[in-house]
Amino acid sequence: MQAQPEGRREANLALLLRTLRARGPLSRTQLTTRSGLSKATVAPLLTDLEQRGLTEPAGTTTTQGRPGRLVQLRPGAVCGIGLDVHPGHLGATITDLTGDVRLRRQTSCDTSAPEHALDRLADLALKALKDVPKAEWAGITVAVPGRVDRTAGTVTAARLRWRDVAVVDGLAARTGLPLSRFDLDHEANLAACAEHDSDPVDHLVYLNGDHSVAAGVIADGELVRGAHNRAGEVGHIVLDPTGSTLCACGRRGCWETQVGLDAFLHACAPRHDRVHDPELAPGERMAIVRARAERGDARTLDALHRTAAALASGLSVLVTVLNPGKIVLGGYFAALQDWLVAPLEQGRTRVTASTLGFAAGGKGGALAALRRVLDDPTVVPVKDGPKTGGSPEGASA
Ligand SMILES: [Zn+2]
Repeated sequence: MQAQPEGRREANLALLLRTLRARGPLSRTQLTTRSGLSKATVAPLLTDLEQRGLTEPAGTTTTQGRPGRLVQLRPGAVCGIGLDVHPGHLGATITDLTGDVRLRRQTSCDTSAPEHALDRLADLALKALKDVPKAEWAGITVAVPGRVDRTAGTVTAARLRWRDVAVVDGLAARTGLPLSRFDLDHEANLAACAEHDSDPVDHLVYLNGDHSVAAGVIADGELVRGAHNRAGEVGHIVLDPTGSTLCACGRRGCWETQVGLDAFLHACAPRHDRVHDPELAPGERMAIVRARAERGDARTLDALHRTAAALASGLSVLVTVLNPGKIVLGGYFAALQDWLVAPLEQGRTRVTASTLGFAAGGKGGALAALRRVLDDPTVVPVKDGPKTGGSPEGASA
């Protein structure tokens, strides 16, 4: 057998890891068929993956009368961390290579002060790392509701009142973790990828129902970013030119002023009502709204019906332009799906509620962080003997 160039070997390891992730557990024969690699190539690569602690035996199977040993991803072997930032609260999510969420934590925080928010985010990141001491960690991706410069690692978000905030530098300095392990993206993009990961529909639109409303658009299986990384800012499509409410972007009549969480809560209850308490987690606020709707509160039901109507008119624009196979509604749209998602009818496009709630961006962030390992499994070192844990680059928490 000819020696393989090193780059090819990494690509083949990545191919096997991805195949196991999508279709595992699989026998060696099944992996050979599905990956298109030869049996002689697959065998040593599987040994390599197991030595890195990424895979494990998963019993046996019998195909065509012949028993074969099954291999699967080892749960908890490598973890990705997603941090999510919303006006008034922060979250952290850890997932492993299988996509299972191993931890979700959230906290209220005055996010209008960026330095303070970064302090709290750094705390969340370090706590998350402590929770997975035995696992390799692939990286940390921050999900933000705003414009992201991924090269500079900065964020500008009107709803957060952040302007060119150096998120990546700030977190690396506060945690002492390597800069190269951090990344960031728009929460709607990351949430769309998380939804696509659990249901790989070729043309998918994720719409986040939060203070800001934006879409993550996947076309032909790929995320659409646009020429200036600003695709998906659909909350600022002007749908109500006569609208009086000023949008965070400075204009009037944006879709966000009709279906954003601020507009919805404002329609639900007067200013001093409990539902506006910034200390409440978004889920708790939604529980209050849901309880009121269930007991027939007229103002709440009116707000829900108006929001559903405005949601439908905006979605019909997205359906016309993008022709998605599936639209996933997240955030508060999903939390109140009985009133906001169920009545929506968009022709041949399926409209569903996200099961990830307000944590969708965080889960997408954690999965994005794992891409480093899925692209090149050799970034996880070979284990020597029974000792496990630690991280490449000596960056163990
Ligand atoms: Zn706007």
